[in-house]
Amino acid sequence: MIRFRHGVDTSVGRVRRVNEDSYLAVPPVYAVADGMGGHGSGDVASRLAVEVLARCVMLRPLFTEAVLHALDEANRAIVEHDGPNRMGTTITGLAGLETLGGDRLMVFNVGDSRVYRLAGERFEQLTVDHSEVQEMVLAGVLTREQARTHPRRNVVTRALGGGHELAADHWLVPAAAGDRFLLCSDGLFGEVLDEALAGLLALADPQHAAEALVAAANEAGGHDNITALVVDIEHADTPEYYPVEETVPGRKAPGRPDGPAARGGAGTGGAGGGPGGPGVGRAPSGELPIDVGLVGLGLIDPDGDGRAR
Ligand code: MG
Repeated sequence: MIRFRHGVDTSVGRVRRVNEDSYLAVPPVYAVADGMGGHGSGDVASRLAVEVLARCVMLRPLFTEAVLHALDEANRAIVEHDGPNRMGTTITGLAGLETLGGDRLMVFNVGDSRVYRLAGERFEQLTVDHSEVQEMVLAGVLTREQARTHPRRNVVTRALGGGHELAADHWLVPAAAGDRFLLCSDGLFGEVLDEALAGLLALADPQHAAEALVAAANEAGGHDNITALVVDIEHADTPEYYPVEETVPGRKAPGRPDGPAARGGAGTGGAGGGPGGPGVGRAPSGELPIDVGLVGLGLIDPDGDGRAR
């Protein structure tokens, strides 16, 4: 059995005026979305994406098709919301699935935000960018290093909001205690080389790691919005959460921490990270739990000042 612990930081960077990145950090679903669009509507697109994806946080059991369906719904919401300004967003992340074979993680991606995994000494990128430069790298025209600074490095070949048909990549990976995942927007890996990413990601505390990664990207120039979401997989003796259908309003049930808002901060620690850990708190009542999470965990940047709440 596993539980999640996370740390997160986001910054508008040193050049942009609006932070168009959004993130979702409510166990067992984590995501980073990097919005794009004319007239500053990229922040609307990325926020819509994480809000719609957040609907599947409460599903038990959570399964692959439910996450893919949520991504389809997010795509539809952005396409339908779109006015005269074309807007879209990348989205990448991971979701904890309870499968017959035990705990698994689903990694998903649309666009050029990334998921990396640090397992022991091994640091690797799990997602494949949907971008023009990635296609040139695969064709042997560019090196990975050249792609980082290529003038067309920002051109994505898939995005939410790009059309009615969405093709999201997804992979299933083992949920191994001790593994750490980094979900990030291109404002991070566009500024910081893999070796430095791996070094900072190895900092013991996930919140310190997230803040150090964002600080490094800002020190390197901060040309874009930067988001780093660090998710640790930990062993748990008791379930982190219980199926929604097993809970009724007002009935106490073990396993799930208090509503995300009660934890405060910028999502530091994640479930089980607060005093008491797992086994303390109440089950979700089913009454708009996601809205609480949206406000309390800083999924969005409501003030537009580059800091999530
Ligand atoms: Mg970006």
